[in-house]
Amino acid sequence: MTALTPNRIIFNTAKKVYEGELSKSEGINMLVGELNINKGSAQMIIVQIFPKLLDGEQFTRTLSVDLFNSFLKFILEDYGEDRLRNSLSALKMHIDYIKEKGDAKITLRKIYQGYLDSLKTGGTSSLQDEIEQSEIVNQLKDKTKNELASELENSENDTSEKVTINHKSYKRNNKIIALIKILRNFECQICGKYILKKDGLKYVEAAHIIPKHKQGNEHPKNILLLCPNHHKEFDLGNREVINHTEKEIEFKLNGVRYLISLEI
Ligand SMILES: [Zn+2]
Repeated sequence: MTALTPNRIIFNTAKKVYEGELSKSEGINMLVGELNINKGSAQMIIVQIFPKLLDGEQFTRTLSVDLFNSFLKFILEDYGEDRLRNSLSALKMHIDYIKEKGDAKITLRKIYQGYLDSLKTGGTSSLQDEIEQSEIVNQLKDKTKNELASELENSENDTSEKVTINHKSYKRNNKIIALIKILRNFECQICGKYILKKDGLKYVEAAHIIPKHKQGNEHPKNILLLCPNHHKEFDLGNREVINHTEKEIEFKLNGVRYLISLEI
């Protein structure tokens, strides 16, 4: 058997504490005793950084870039892509936090971007876009349906890449998708389902009928809101479009026929 690297031992110890196999003080003592890590750092890893990374929450203390890199690799290996997504969202908040403090760690941002790029995005939005869309939803949630519909129309006619909402700049495409999600109630347009997130917001995905790489754009007539299952079926299943207009789309997906309104 090959010996574990120090980074793997740190990770495994923090993991045992996270999963309740070791108490916090047992974990901290193991790191201090076996790897000669100072107690403050051991505590910071076990109590703050490891659990917050896995749970997707902001942390303020920082690790060496090398240790972060190993942690992300091991999270992907041991827990899979969903947990890596959580960790990247925690890391993004952390990077923003240290950037705000005037201490941007360029290399840390690089490894964040590298892992973000490595995630398969299901053909629509990257994690970054998802985060941006949720922020926009939050900014717009108090507007009336009429106000939202006219915002959507304005955004469609706009040709700029970026838009500003409450002094913050966003991709215009993300604003359009956020508006479509609100106006269509965040429901899968095939089965009516959505995922309820722990923050109380609903999660649904936006599928491009004509894919982006074939010049499909963000416009209500080209966007279907789908739950993750139907999104994958739409992208990977046997799809046959029978009719597609401004107002509706009729298609067969794995032999089942659907007629779905694309109006707002
Ligand atoms: Zn569905």
